[in-house]
Amino acid sequence: MPTCVVTGGAGFLGSHLCEALLERGNRVVCIDSLETGSLGNIEHLRDGAFHFIGHDITEHIRVDEPVDVVYHLASPASPIDYLRLPLLTLKVGSYGTHNALGLAKAKRARFLLASTSEVYGDPQVHPQPETYWGHVNPIGPRGVYDEAKRYAEAMTMAYHRQQGVDTAIVRIFNTYGPRMRPHDGRAIPTFLRQAIDEKPLTVFGDGSQTRSFCYVDDLVRGIVLLAESGEHLPVNIGNPSEKTLLELADAVIRVTGSSSQIVFEALPVDDPQVRQPDITRARQLLGWEPEVELDDGLRRTLASIGRDAARA
Ligand code: NAD
Repeated sequence: MPTCVVTGGAGFLGSHLCEALLERGNRVVCIDSLETGSLGNIEHLRDGAFHFIGHDITEHIRVDEPVDVVYHLASPASPIDYLRLPLLTLKVGSYGTHNALGLAKAKRARFLLASTSEVYGDPQVHPQPETYWGHVNPIGPRGVYDEAKRYAEAMTMAYHRQQGVDTAIVRIFNTYGPRMRPHDGRAIPTFLRQAIDEKPLTVFGDGSQTRSFCYVDDLVRGIVLLAESGEHLPVNIGNPSEKTLLELADAVIRVTGSSSQIVFEALPVDDPQVRQPDITRARQLLGWEPEVELDDGLRRTLASIGRDAARA
C-alpha cells in the first residue's frame, strides 16, 4: 500500500485530497498545525490507513515510516488568512517548503507543491499559460502570499535540479466546494452565506473582474493525476470557464433561490482584474478536463452547508 504524506491535510483542499487518496487504497499521513484547518474536516476519515500528526511544518518534519509521495499543501490560502498571518505565510512558503522537500528527499518520495494562480499576479497575458512569468507586486499586502509561492516554486525546482528530487508543481486556480469556511473571505462561501441569510451579496469593485471557479473533486483528480505522472514543470489546474463576479453572484442567487440583492464595496488592493487558466498542458499531459459545471458545483456545496449545520 503506497504511503502519502499530505501537509495541510486538515484544510479545505487537503481533507478532500486525503479522502480521495484513501479511496484509491493509499495509506495517508496528514500533517497539520490546524492554523486554518480543523479536526472537523477529517473526523469522518476513521480509517486504519489514516494517521494525523499535529505539527507546524516550519519546524523539522519527522515521519517514522517509508513515504512514496509528499503532497505539500500547508499554507494560509485565503486573503483573510494571509493578511492576518503575513510572516507565517512567508515562513510556511520558505522554511515549510524546505522541510517538506527535505522529507521527500530523505524518503526518496515524489513531491508535489500546491502552488497558485497568484504567481501570475494581476496578469497581463490572458488566459494564463504556465510559460507566463507573472506581474506581481512584491511589496503590496498580497505580496506575502504571492511571493511565498513563487519562492516555493523556485526552491522546488532547485531541489529537483540540484538534489535530484522527483518534484511536481500544480498551479491551482480558484477552487470551491464543501468544507470551505463560511467566513474565510473567499467569494463563493461569502455569497452562499449571504444568500442563505437573505442578506445583500457584497461584490467588490463593479463586479466586472473575472475568476474561473473549479469544483474541488475536479481539482483533486487533476492533482493526483499530476502526482502520478512524471512531469516536473508547473501545470495549471483550474476551470477555464471564466465568470465575472457579478455573474457568480447571480448564479448563487439562482441556485439558492434567495431574494438577496447585490451591493458593491471597495476593491481590495492589487485585486487581479482577470483570472483564467490555459489548461492545454493539463489536457495534453494528464488527459485532464474539469467536469462539474458552476451551478451543479454550487448546488453540491450548498447541500453540504446544510449537512454541516445539522452536524454542528
Ligand atoms: P486551507 O486554509 O483550508 O488549508 C491550509 C491548511 O494548511 C490548513 O489545514 C492549515 O491549518 C494548514 N497549515 C497552515 N500553516 C501550517 C503550518 N505552518 N504547518 C502545518 N500546517 C499548516 O486552504 P486551502 O484552500 O485548502 O489551500 C490548500 C493549499 O492549496 C494551499 O497551499 C493554497 O495556497 C493552495 N491553493 C488553494 C486554492 C483554493 O482555491 N482553495 C487556490 C490556489 C492555491
